[in-house]
Amino acid sequence: MSDARDWLTEGLPHIWLPYTQMATASPPLLVTATQGTRIRLGDGRELIDGISSWWTACHGYNHPHIRAAVERQLASLPHVMFAGLVHEPALRLATRLAALLPGDLERVFFTESGSVAVEVALKMAIQYWRNKGQAEKQRIVYFRHAYHGDTFATMALCDPEEGMHTLFAGTLPDQIMAELPTDENLRRAFDLLLATHGERVAAVIVEPLVQGAGGMKMHDAQTLAFIAEACRRHQVLLIADEIMTGFGRSGRMFACEEAAVVPDIICLSKALTGGTLPLAATVARRHVFAAFLADDPAAALMHGPTYMANPLACAAANASLDLFEPSHNSPCLAQVAAIEAQLRAELEACRDLAGVADVRVKGAIGAVELSCQAGGAIDLHALRSRFSELGVWLRPFGNVVYLMPPFVISTGELGILTAAVRTALTERARTL
Ligand SMILES: *Cc1c(COP(=O)(O)O)cnc(C)c1O
Repeated sequence: MSDARDWLTEGLPHIWLPYTQMATASPPLLVTATQGTRIRLGDGRELIDGISSWWTACHGYNHPHIRAAVERQLASLPHVMFAGLVHEPALRLATRLAALLPGDLERVFFTESGSVAVEVALKMAIQYWRNKGQAEKQRIVYFRHAYHGDTFATMALCDPEEGMHTLFAGTLPDQIMAELPTDENLRRAFDLLLATHGERVAAVIVEPLVQGAGGMKMHDAQTLAFIAEACRRHQVLLIADEIMTGFGRSGRMFACEEAAVVPDIICLSKALTGGTLPLAATVARRHVFAAFLADDPAAALMHGPTYMANPLACAAANASLDLFEPSHNSPCLAQVAAIEAQLRAELEACRDLAGVADVRVKGAIGAVELSCQAGGAIDLHALRSRFSELGVWLRPFGNVVYLMPPFVISTGELGILTAAVRTALTERARTL
């Protein structure tokens, strides 16, 4: 296969990988195919994917129902601009999202990535108040350990100390960080913060129940309900960033449901297309949308990504939503419950290992938080390469090793993933 080697060796010096020190990183693994829970490598090995390709591939890879829908769509209408023109896949998807989401979250703005979905939510929130004559309400409250994206506006909403964006701190808008109100004192403090700054605050943004890329931190439904209630009292919009938790990952279709919270705006992406094509949605409640209706062009939402509502991506999302319906006898939420039980049982053994600070599980999310008292920095490179030696694809970041497998994973395969975590962390414990 001299041909294969040519494009590989010629191509590698031309790509720039994400979150990677290119001077020292070990070479990336070549993938030749995916199927179900498996990633096939160029050297013939297969890895079990424990993180669903950045939390997207909830039904596993190459699901025949999604593939067929995308192929059908490709033959008739791969793309058309979405200004002044609409199409069936987007209208069907918007209708279905409105029906699935709680309350009157019913007006859908499509984009192509999570970060942009959050940017649109911020524009909606700020302009909502401007359109209502309260232009001074412009600032956003976010929480410690938050992650809302990599673009400039979203970087300003990521944890300033632990986030990956400290480098840009001086160039970012100054937003307001709060502690998650997880106990009585913190609730009083959060209330005071909104009382003090409320007149300048457009919205509070939260990752409901599980904060993802900021460290897989988990909070309970009462905390989320308190945040929503405080927002209502202080006349501040609530933006739920369910880009990670949406579509069953937390155990419910949307994490907000567990707290019976209806946010004013919700952001969705990652598992929206079942990991097949890029797509995101920012969905607003009726009263938010109503604030943009006026006999005034300047009151309209001025945003429009070139590829918004791409028909292929919308077709993939519709097919992915089919797989959540009982008629497709693919009981996703029951699968998540079974994964949760197995993760709880099998990751618990990590808790007593040296160098393990905490074990947390919520829905189909399992996290083992490492401590670095003894050994200095956590050697992520060593852990990552050990995992691929053990036949699994896991990519710990910061101080967490986490699992977010496809919902279709078998008990046996999930057992291999949790065993790999125990093995690698037991070996690490011996070196501390
Ligand atoms: C991944 C993620 C984003 C950013 O999505 P991209 O598609 O990577 O831009 C935003 N918020 C949360 C909670 C995420 O998990």
